[in-house]
Amino acid sequence: MQRVKRNDTVKVISGKDAGKQGRVVHVYPRENRVMVEGINRVTKHDRVRTTRRGGQEGGITKMEAPIHLSNVMPICESCGEPTRVGSRIVAGKRARYCRKCDAEF
Ligand SMILES: [Zn+2]
Repeated sequence: MQRVKRNDTVKVISGKDAGKQGRVVHVYPRENRVMVEGINRVTKHDRVRTTRRGGQEGGITKMEAPIHLSNVMPICESCGEPTRVGSRIVAGKRARYCRKCDAEF
């Protein structure tokens, strides 16, 4: 079962971004990782290159790195709390629901 989907809002519960919230922009199901907007930014040191047009690229850039699913918790839209996600079959389809307020999402 996929606990977190794209466009979910999640709260980071461990690591250096613990306590922050962000929107999921990408899910990597095979790695159990998600990319979250503004979370887990890493500084990348690249050699400075000169492009054909004469501009420069490289140097120190910031980028987001995927974070492991176990380090985030989805935030329920109806109760606004970080929650665990349950799964049940509704009308023949698998639905995710909030374990705190029972709302489906
Ligand atoms: Zn809820």
